[in-house]
Amino acid sequence: MRSTGDLELVHVSKRYDDAVAVNNISHVFSEGSYVCLLGPSGCGKSTTLRIIAGHESLSDGSVVLDGHDISGLPPARRGTAMMFQNYALFPHLSVRDNVAFSLRMKGVDKAERHRAADEMLELVQMTQFAARLPAQLSGGQQQRVALARALVTKPRVLLLDEPLSALDPFLRIRVRAELRRLQRDLGITFIHVTHGQDEALALADELVVMNNAVIEQAGPAREVWNAPRTEFVARFMGGHNVLTLDSGKVAVRADQVRLGDDGLSATVTAVEYQGATVALTSVTDAGEDVLALVPEAAFFQSPRSPGDAVRLAWDTGRQHRLSA
Ligand code: ADP
Ligand code: MG
Repeated sequence: MRSTGDLELVHVSKRYDDAVAVNNISHVFSEGSYVCLLGPSGCGKSTTLRIIAGHESLSDGSVVLDGHDISGLPPARRGTAMMFQNYALFPHLSVRDNVAFSLRMKGVDKAERHRAADEMLELVQMTQFAARLPAQLSGGQQQRVALARALVTKPRVLLLDEPLSALDPFLRIRVRAELRRLQRDLGITFIHVTHGQDEALALADELVVMNNAVIEQAGPAREVWNAPRTEFVARFMGGHNVLTLDSGKVAVRADQVRLGDDGLSATVTAVEYQGATVALTSVTDAGEDVLALVPEAAFFQSPRSPGDAVRLAWDTGRQHRLSA
């Protein structure tokens, strides 16, 4: 269902002298959804985000929010806000003044902008640090300040460029849960750029997978995971095998591959105990590697070792033909 608060990219392209960073992208980001823009380094994610935010001009196409073409508007008048990868906090300003900065630029008086900043600091649980300088904060705390600074303008759409990449793995998982909760509470659209599949699956209502300056596949997270349309998506999302059967490529999830008495014949090349599952890699007679994630109890009923001959099978409904 389309609603007026949707953000729409209409045939958007960005060309540099020697590179096409974004190539004719069209997409509707639904109002109030958490969307992850996912893809390998250099595929055009940050450029797409900067185009939406107005920090980058576009070569072709338009950006539409709420039914209005916002392509020509400056960043502060778009109804979008961006949180940068390195947070870009002003080192000489206190936490409160950092958060209030955009309101100062808009000419909001001091009492009002401090009230708004304090409200945002409360939202991200940073009230007690309001008077500190950024250098006096941990990485996770700086991240919250950057978030508060982006939210203080009350955007319709929050744009986050790899917001968790500077955090250690433990903190990353905690903060991503907080981001998800914040998005639900605020009810605004979040567009979160990441190159991490796990992060995208954990967060997103919708996944937009980019490759080589185009959208390769977009859809609900489970749909993209369960039914990758191309070899690139299947390999990039992980957890899938790509095989050539009947002279066409198909994807089969690794956790759907069974070891049995019939099926594709292969030779075991590696066995890795992973706790709940055992990862068994084998090579088919055609020379293709196949990963099977076998529940540990099932594996140990009839253990296999490298060099063993095996038969690999799966339900035909679990096999997806890939387009080139
Ligand atoms: P991602 O965020 O997915 O890693 P980017 O959007 O930053 O990718 O970049 C996409 C492509 O555009 C890359 O090939 C990059 O080198 C190129 N690019 C980005 N910014 C510029 C620029 N200012 N000038 C020239 N090329 C650029
Ligand atoms: Mg980037």
